[in-house]
Amino acid sequence: MVTAGGIDLGGTKIEATAFDEAWAVVESKRIATPKETYEGLVDALCEMIHWLEEVSGNKDLPIGVGIPGFYSKRTGKFLTANLPASGRTLHDDIISKLGRAVTFENDCNCFALSEAVLGAGRSYDTVFGLILGTGVGGGCCSNGHTVSGLNGAAGEYGHLGIPYAAMTKLGLEPLKCGCGRTGCFETYLAGPGISRLANHVTGKAVDAQTITKAAAAGDVPMQEVMRLWSQLAAELVAALQCSLDPDCIVLGGGLSKIPNIERTIAQALPGKLLNHTEPPMICVAQFGDSSGTRGAALAALQDCEHLGEGL
Ligand SMILES: [Zn+2]
Repeated sequence: MVTAGGIDLGGTKIEATAFDEAWAVVESKRIATPKETYEGLVDALCEMIHWLEEVSGNKDLPIGVGIPGFYSKRTGKFLTANLPASGRTLHDDIISKLGRAVTFENDCNCFALSEAVLGAGRSYDTVFGLILGTGVGGGCCSNGHTVSGLNGAAGEYGHLGIPYAAMTKLGLEPLKCGCGRTGCFETYLAGPGISRLANHVTGKAVDAQTITKAAAAGDVPMQEVMRLWSQLAAELVAALQCSLDPDCIVLGGGLSKIPNIERTIAQALPGKLLNHTEPPMICVAQFGDSSGTRGAALAALQDCEHLGEGL
């Protein structure tokens, strides 16, 4: 029996998945994301919600949507780079069009929630989901619930500045980031960032996959690239410790598929964390591409339970 539905709203595709009570995938559907107009995007989301209702045979099925970018639960407005929805109240518009409850949650938070409740972080209290892909994003869960903040920007550690001392010690230049700031972690830690580190070491911009393969095969300059990257990743873990002090960090995104990446980061931690503190457990996500829809469905189910408590 289908108990919840999750929708992952991405820049290129929208994926909807129906889950049963054991969180197994019952059925899944993908469509291309309409990028021309806001109205087209609203219609596409409504179509997917209707599809989940049909698959489950339940008009009141808890349905959650994971969305890229910031979403303020206070104003209802979105800030998103790749969709025609910035400044629009997408959540409110979907609810008024369908006349039913739908949960909206940031996609990084969906990843974190999925891993914190059902995945690699399930035996920990404070779980940070760190996504290392074309960008660096993240979401935090405390006791199985997401922490969003005023603007929905909690967890955006990719846009925290690399400490000046670390930058100087590693001999790196602060770079301009896509967010408008300079010296963000994302500029060196994301996939394109590893290529920038390779450029710094060798004068050539090599892609992340080639770098990690060459480093594993004993290529000394590429091992230096990975050393710099792991030092920066450890600095980010130190920043996480000073703010959230998570007991578990779950890695996701393309770079989390690098063999032993969790150990590479853990080995770079000594000397970075506060004196006499325990390091957090660092592990790789249990769920792959289905984390977004699973986390969105989970957020919807939690919303329903929360409403139930208030009755
Ligand atoms: Zn930035």
